[in-house]
Amino acid sequence: MENFDLHNHSTSSDGLLTPTQLIDLAAANKVDSIALTDHDNTDGLAEAREAALRSGIGFVPGVEVSVSWGENVLHVVGLNIDPGSALLRDGLDSIRGGRLGRAKRIGEALARLGFENTFDAALELAKSDRLLSRTHFARVLVGRGAVKDMQQAFDKYLIRGKPAYVSHRWADLEDAVKWIRGSGGVAVLAHPGRYDLKPMMREALLTQFRNLGGTAIEVVTGSHRPEMYSLWQREALEHGFQASRGADYHGPGESPCEPGRLPALHPSLTPVWSTWAH
Ligand code: AMP
Ligand code: MN
Ligand code: MN
Ligand code: MN
Repeated sequence: MENFDLHNHSTSSDGLLTPTQLIDLAAANKVDSIALTDHDNTDGLAEAREAALRSGIGFVPGVEVSVSWGENVLHVVGLNIDPGSALLRDGLDSIRGGRLGRAKRIGEALARLGFENTFDAALELAKSDRLLSRTHFARVLVGRGAVKDMQQAFDKYLIRGKPAYVSHRWADLEDAVKWIRGSGGVAVLAHPGRYDLKPMMREALLTQFRNLGGTAIEVVTGSHRPEMYSLWQREALEHGFQASRGADYHGPGESPCEPGRLPALHPSLTPVWSTWAH
C-alpha cells in the first residue's frame, strides 16, 4: 500500500508544527502523500503545498469541519477541496466566528474553578482568536501543572459533562458535506470511533452520512485505538464506504502516531485515494 496520511494539523489550527515542519516530518517518515486538515480553516494549505513540492511528496488539500449532529459533535474531513471555493469559504467562516465567544466562556468557567486568565494564555498560544480551540486551553492547564497531560485536561474539565465544557452550534452535517463536495472535494467521516454512539445511533449516522453524499470513513487513525480498527473496517464494508487513513497528528508528545506511521488499511477495504490520479 502506498503511504497516504490524510488527516493532520498545523499551527493554522490546534497543531504544534507549522505547515512546513509538518510536511518535512511526513517526508522524513517516507509518506507518499499527505493531507493537511486543519479545523474549520484552510489558511495553512498554501504553505504546506509549497513545502510538499520542495520535498517531493504528494499533497492533498484538506479541512476538518466541525459539525453538530443532535447533541453530538462530529468531525467531517474534506479531501481534495478547493480552498478558493466561495461556498466552502463562507461556510467555514460562518462556524469559525463563534469560537471567540465560546473561548471566553470556557475561560470564565475555568476561572470559577480557580484557574485565572486562561483565556489570555490560550489566545497567546493560538494564531488567531478565530482558531481558538479547547486544545489551547488544555495546553495552558498542562503548562501550569494543573493536570498531568492533555488527556487529563480534557477528561477532567473540557469534555461534555465536565465543568468547563461550553456547548456550541457548529455546521449541520448536510451543510458540511455540501460545502466539501461543492468545492470539488470528497467528504470523509473523521474518527467515527470517538463519538461514543450506541449501535443504533451509529447505524443511523452512517446511513445518513452515506445518503448525504459522504464517500469514506476513517478506519485507521491515531484517534482510534488499534482494537477499534476491525469494527470500523466492518462498518465501512457494510455501508459501502471507502476507507481513509490518517494520524490526526497534532504535534510532538501530543499524538500517539506521527504522520505515515500508522498500520496499513486492511486489503479488503477500498482506500479513498484508490481512484485519485497521482
Ligand atoms: P474544539 O474544536 O475547540 O472543540 O477542540 C477539539 C479538539 O480538541 C480536537 O480536534 C482534538 O484535537 C482535541 N480533543 C477533543 N477531545 C479530546 C480528548 N478527549 N482528548 C484529547 N484531545 C481532545
Ligand atoms: Mn484538533
Ligand atoms: Mn477531529
Ligand atoms: Mn483532527
